[in-house]
This record gives sequence, structure tokens and C-alpha cells, in this order.
Amino acid sequence: MADPRVVIVGAGMSGLCMAIALRRAGVRDFTIYEKAGAVGGTWRDNTYPGLTCDVPSRFYQFSFATNPDWTHLYSPGAEIWAYLDRIADRHGVREHIVFGTEVTAARHTGERWQIETSTGVRDEADFLVTATGVLHHPRHPGIPGLGTFEGPAFHSARWDHGVPLRGRRIAVIGTGSTGVQITTGLAGTAGRLMLFQRTAQWILPVRNRPYGRLTRAAHRRLPVLDRLGYRWHEFVISKVLAEAIIRPGWQRTLIGALCRRNLEKVADPELRRKLTPPDQPMCKRLIASGGFYDAVQRDDVELVDDAISRVEPRGIVTEDGRLHEIDVLVLATGFDAHAYVRPMRLVAPDGRTLDEAWRDGPHAYRTVAMPGFPNLFFLMGPHSPIGNYSLVAIAEAQAAYITGWIRRHRAGLVTTMAPKPEATAAYNEAMRKALPRTIWTSGCSSWYLGKDGLPELWPWTPREHARMLGKPAFTEFDIRS
Ligand code: NAP
Repeated sequence: MADPRVVIVGAGMSGLCMAIALRRAGVRDFTIYEKAGAVGGTWRDNTYPGLTCDVPSRFYQFSFATNPDWTHLYSPGAEIWAYLDRIADRHGVREHIVFGTEVTAARHTGERWQIETSTGVRDEADFLVTATGVLHHPRHPGIPGLGTFEGPAFHSARWDHGVPLRGRRIAVIGTGSTGVQITTGLAGTAGRLMLFQRTAQWILPVRNRPYGRLTRAAHRRLPVLDRLGYRWHEFVISKVLAEAIIRPGWQRTLIGALCRRNLEKVADPELRRKLTPPDQPMCKRLIASGGFYDAVQRDDVELVDDAISRVEPRGIVTEDGRLHEIDVLVLATGFDAHAYVRPMRLVAPDGRTLDEAWRDGPHAYRTVAMPGFPNLFFLMGPHSPIGNYSLVAIAEAQAAYITGWIRRHRAGLVTTMAPKPEATAAYNEAMRKALPRTIWTSGCSSWYLGKDGLPELWPWTPREHARMLGKPAFTEFDIRS
């Protein structure tokens, strides 16, 4: 049987992961279409001051390509981007990437995927794999007058490095992981930093330990240390953080207690009151930071918790009528996490589009496939375990599963496959029953929640996700061979 042809959309972390899995399986006929001019996805787009990954680097990396040279327990974003860029070369992926080309549409004819791109290039493939990320489309808040501000204004994922920051009055809107990291990164550089908070968030205290020269040299000489480091962090995050999120128990109590104790670091009772969240720790995505409370207690940092009423040419006006004059405006207001895979137009053989299939919200079969859409796979698809776990580990599990199907095609066992609608419905029903047990439904608003008020996340442990993908249930598929 001829090698199947595979098209991957996106050369971020998960697209690279998929490509490497294919190469390791001996599949060479694949192309990655990447709309930007470089690999790295979110790590290419996000370059804001203070950016680090809040998952330990020893676990936020490919298990088959561990990096002995991480400089910190939680390494800076630029280091992660450089790692991904290196991986693209070391694993022979770059020559498969077509940069500056966005996949705009793909239609399955019943036999193959026919693919259209922004540059007019057309392609055909046996398998289409979307690796378009979760947090990709910046969310711009509908604050009146936002466009009237006369100084530089930009979203955190589109940082304008041409704008001088030293000594200037900078406003940051939003206190999610991004707003917290920017505040920590900019405090002391800005002349005055104003952090506009709509909802206070719990902060898990973490110390970002640097790895010394000796540690790095030891890891370079003894790769087993890298493997042990990976397993150790995987174990701790799985056994503590992941458990805390999905069910009540000592893990939830422990993390809650650590967050509450951390808040006591804020000496001024009024500031502490403002920083006290109205919900339970982890209801929104848990923020990990060692420096945030120190930063907000500085004299040159102000936490503004009055609601924003409008933006004017000179600054931000809050509902108490005060004009906060600023020089630079940063929107750390998050992403449209529910725009999975879009705006690409995917069409099934019966003419149905993915938009139509997802009218009531994104859903999938086991996070990776979709009934009616043959030979289509998602990386980081709907309900992937994307809480505080390593997305790299999730991508690896999904890429291995997808590669399994591509091998079956190569072996002549499968021409087209798609999960059965009833199997998909049963899986989604089980998930709907499990979701209310998670901490995300304990009464807060967050980007995790979909139209139906339920989280679009995995309600079991990441290990259960890996186990589920480890054993494909062939009877749950319509298979043509
Ligand atoms: P986010 O968690 O969605 O937070 C957005 C923030 O903007 C919230 O504080 C929100 O307030 C505020 N906001 C939104 N619209 C507003 C408005 N109109 N007026 C005032 N405030 C407004 O976004 P994010 O911080 O960019 O983080 C998104 C996700 O990216 C994280 O959850 C995480 O998964 C990922 N991330 C990861 C890392 C990492 O280190 N691994 C770092 C950064 C981001 P409300 O809370 O009131 O809605």
C-alpha cells in the first residue's frame, strides 16, 4: 500500500509533535501548513515581559527530546520558543513546513481531503490533522472608547516591542495568568503600573528556582537525570494538581490552603480584601506565581478594582468617575478559547460543515476525532486535558493515537475511518455527567466554560486520557478498507 499523505495545520508545539511522530513511524509524505513565518505557535506569538511557562520545564518538553539546558524550573517563554525551533531542525520537520500559508478550507470528497490555502496552493491528503492551538485568537474587550486612546495599545499576545516602557505609566487590564506575569515582569520598569482587576484570582506560590551550571552539566552528561526529572514532575502534577481539580480530596484542600496562606503575604488589609477572590481556588485556571503579591505591594504599582467604564484619549475612566492617566495600554484579556480550528472551513462528505456540527459548542470523540468527518483528527481538540497539566504530554498521547490510525492505513487495513455518532454521543454523555464534579463548576466564570455552562475540559485525570487513547476501540468506528 502507498504511504498515506498527511496534511497538518499549524507548526506550533502540537503540530511539530505530530510531524515528529509521523517521521518516527516512517511516514514521510506529509506537509505542515503554517500561516506565520516561524514555528512555535503560542510561544512565537507571546513575547510579553515576565512570560514564563507555569508548568515545570522538565515536564513541559517532549519526552523523547528532553533538554538538559533549561535555565529555570519554570523557563522563560523565549527559551521554550528556541527549544521548539531547534526541535524542528533536529527532527527533520522544517523541510516539511510551508510557511506563510493558511489553510482556509478543506473538503472530504468521500475518498480524500481537498485542501485550499490563503496563497492559492491546493493540496490533497488522506489524513487532515488540525494542530491550531487552543488559545490563539486574542479577545479584545468591548470597553467603550477603547479605540480612542491616543497612546500605544496592544493585546498581550501582540506585544509591541517598539514601545518604550521604562519610566512610563502603563495600564494592564486583566488578572489571569498573563496579567499576573506581566505585572510581575514590569513592576520596577514602569514608572507607574496600574493593574485593572475585574475579578481577583487565587495565586499558588511557586519559587522559580534557576538551574545552576553544575546541574545543567550533570543533565548533559547523564540523560537519565532528564528522564527522572520528567517522570518526577509528571508524577507530582498528576497526583496533586490534576486530582485537586477533578474531585474533592486532600489535594484540593492542600492547594486551597496554600493559596489562602499565600494571600496573607499581603500586609495591607484593604489591598488583601481587594485581592481576595470570590470563588474557590482552581475554579478559574490556577495561577502560579512567586512574585505577584510582592509586585502589587510596591509603591509604584496600583491595583484598581473599580470597574472600567470607558477609555478616553488620555487614559481609563473607572465607574467612580476617576480618570487614570496612562501612556501605554496593555490588554491581558485572554483569548477566544472556543474558536477551536476556526475560521478554517471544514466540510464533511455530506456537505455538513464543522461549524454546523459544532453549533452547540465544540465536541469530539475522545478529544481527537469527529463523526461524519473521515480521517480528520484534532490535536488539543475539544475537552482535551488542558488544565494546569503539560500540553506537551497531551499532544504526545494524541499524536501517538493518530499515528496508529495512519499506520493502519499504510498497512491496508483502513482507507477511511470516522467515529460512530452513537459512540461519540455516549462518550460525551459520560463526560457531561462527570463535569459537574470538577472544581470548574463551583461558581465562577472562566474561559473554560462553554455555551451550556459546562467546562470544555477533560473531567478525568490526564492518565485516564492517555489510557483511553492507548487502546483504540475499533468497534466504535465506521471503517472502510
Ligand atoms: P484569562 O485567563 O482569560 O484572563 C483574562 C483576564 O482579563 C481576566 O482577569 C478577566 O477578568 C479580564 N477581562 C476580560 N475582559 C475584561 C473586561 N472587559 N474588563 C476587565 N477585565 C476583563 O486570559 P490569560 O491571562 O491570557 O490566560 C489565558 C490562559 O492562557 C490561561 O488560563 C492559561 O491557560 C494560559 N496561559 C498560560 C501561561 C503559562 O504560564 N502556562 C501563561 C499565560 C497564559 P474576569 O476574570 O473577571 O473574567
